[in-house]
Amino acid sequence: MSTEAAPQFRDYAKADTISLAVRDHYRKMRERQTVDYVQRMKKKYLTFDKPMHVWDAMERLNALVDVSDPDLDLPNVQHLIQAAEGAREAGEPDWMQLVALIHDMGKVMYLWGSDEDGTSQAEQWGLVGDIFVVGARLPDSCVYPQFNELNPDMQDPRYNTPTGMYQPHCGLDNLELAWGHDEYLYQVLKNHKGNTIPEQGMVSVRYHSFYPWHTGNSYTELLSEKDAQYKEWIKSFNRFDLYTKRPESFDLDSMKAYYQPIIEKYLGTEPLYW
Ligand code: FE
Ligand code: FE
Repeated sequence: MSTEAAPQFRDYAKADTISLAVRDHYRKMRERQTVDYVQRMKKKYLTFDKPMHVWDAMERLNALVDVSDPDLDLPNVQHLIQAAEGAREAGEPDWMQLVALIHDMGKVMYLWGSDEDGTSQAEQWGLVGDIFVVGARLPDSCVYPQFNELNPDMQDPRYNTPTGMYQPHCGLDNLELAWGHDEYLYQVLKNHKGNTIPEQGMVSVRYHSFYPWHTGNSYTELLSEKDAQYKEWIKSFNRFDLYTKRPESFDLDSMKAYYQPIIEKYLGTEPLYW
């Protein structure tokens, strides 16, 4: 019998080199993700004019390591395959396996990103990491809450209250979240004509990084009734995002043979437009 303790994930108090980079990442993210920034990024990146197939996008993620993840220093494509294989082993339906496979694929934004926007290999504060609502007060459930006061919007009376620029209980789908890979992929999939991924899968893509809500239970003033269902969906998906992280790698080509037919079943054979 194994006496090994269950692995601990998302430990942000470790003081090694990875953790220092993670901390620095979150400081920049909190300082720079403002209402104005998010609106500019949406205009800039949601152009849907760059065709690329799912598997090509997967392969491009072979060159990217997520600097905000304290648990994994493998290329991001390996995290995606581990998550998908986790869903497959758990007997989840094929669309859930697909959602696990692609959930972080919005990180291909780095291919056309910039250091200035925080969307490059070197600067990832507009690409990855736990996200929060912009235009409302930052909650203490954010990772490194000591950085909240660095956000310029927190000095702005339009934005620094619990509801900020929103109607009370307007619901998740009406909030502006920090810009990153989640919203990017969600919008690309939503724009894709042949997309038949169930709503549960689309919600999982869009909100999987929204930890202050789905794990921190903040933002009660902004949530609608529908969001309780969203939270259940996210919790169910999150098992594969978090607990399938392993140091070993899968062979991409042999994985493609299994996943490509599922990709085509829900997304067709046309490329996605990024
Ligand atoms: Fe993610
Ligand atoms: Fe992930």
